[in-house]
Amino acid sequence: MKCPYCSTSDTRVVNSRPSDEGASIRRRRECASCHRRFTTYERAQFEALMVRKRSGRTEAFNPDKLLDKLRIACNKRPITEKQLREFAYGFEDEVQVPEVASEEIGRRTLKFLRSLDDVAYIRFLSVYRDFDSVDRFVEEIRQLGDDERSA
Ligand SMILES: [Zn+2]
Repeated sequence: MKCPYCSTSDTRVVNSRPSDEGASIRRRRECASCHRRFTTYERAQFEALMVRKRSGRTEAFNPDKLLDKLRIACNKRPITEKQLREFAYGFEDEVQVPEVASEEIGRRTLKFLRSLDDVAYIRFLSVYRDFDSVDRFVEEIRQLGDDERSA
């Protein structure tokens, strides 16, 4: 591992400990040349999950991108960062397929948010799901209300 400050490849691990509840290993390293310290994270990964966009293009799934969207939808809502991280970083393990449609990510995310908080759910729904009309959006929210009454 190269030092990010001086690019020397001679660095040593000062300590390492599990982070993210064991899903990754955090290592503190020290450069043998400039003696500065930096941190690396090691994380197990399946073959990268590919996302099929509506345009037909595919790109590698990026949990950080999903996490950003979740954070926006959940801003000031009673949902913890930990819950969001578990969902975003657990997503690849959850789907267990090599390729997933972007709509499927949206669908699973909505299901997840709906189980936590209606406001976050509707925020995500309004921003990230393409509705072909306002009517469909209103209909979706109306159904949400119906579900609550019947629950
Ligand atoms: Zn260095």
